[in-house]
Amino acid sequence: MSEESQYSEHPGGWIEWFCQLPQNQYLTEVDSEFIQDPNNYGHLIKQFNLFQQALQMILSSEQPDTLDLENEKFLELYTEASDIYGLLHQAFIQTPKGLAIMRERFLNGRFGHCPRVLCEKQNTIPIGLSESLKTSRIKVYCPRCKEAYAPRKSQADFDGAYFGRSFPMLLLLTYPDVHPKFTIQLGTELFTPFQPTLYGFKVRDEKQVSQSSTQLQSQLPQQQQQQQQIITEHTNGIVEKENHHQQEKQNAEQESKQQKKKKKNKKQ
Ligand SMILES: [Zn+2]
Repeated sequence: MSEESQYSEHPGGWIEWFCQLPQNQYLTEVDSEFIQDPNNYGHLIKQFNLFQQALQMILSSEQPDTLDLENEKFLELYTEASDIYGLLHQAFIQTPKGLAIMRERFLNGRFGHCPRVLCEKQNTIPIGLSESLKTSRIKVYCPRCKEAYAPRKSQADFDGAYFGRSFPMLLLLTYPDVHPKFTIQLGTELFTPFQPTLYGFKVRDEKQVSQSSTQLQSQLPQQQQQQQQIITEHTNGIVEKENHHQQEKQNAEQESKQQKKKKKNKKQ
């Protein structure tokens, strides 16, 4: 039994053919029921000129032959069908069923390994740098060094939007058991770590979040005390200065009175 046969219904036809193309090895077969659901494709209709024909092509039980692939009209439709399938794929792999399929593929090393020696051939996860088409090609994310790399072109050469930017984080959050046992910190000045996001928000690991929140809580009263102390010191300083000025003024007045008295005495 293949690794995903317990989940996938193997739709066959165009979908099976498309996912088996050498450059599409990272893509999984999306259920035909998912593709046919208007809730899943409704927002895509206006983005494509030939949406309905392209959708029919995706759901077709026939696989294209070499003559089809030489036909310009077919290729135009095929390009749209590929992108529509890719965007539906991005949504499908975020469903519980899609995540379960991708978990097994990840654990089986279907998406390759991290090229960094320190990561000891850590399995990687496909990631796009955007949820929108034609922004970047597919990359792979290493959960150990938390960096994104270009995959082998022979295995994966399609639009990054077919996976989207949030997918690795969603997979790791849904299945904490697939996290690597240890991660490595890359801290050279030349190294800029890849910033993982989930639906556009920066993601930090739980330890970091709880640590910083405890620090923040313990810092808050301290900061408030410090601020209060600064205010008190500042206020005391002002009061002291004011008293000092008044004392000086009184001294000066007394001195001038005494001098006046002396002058009067001299005149007498
Ligand atoms: Zn790595």
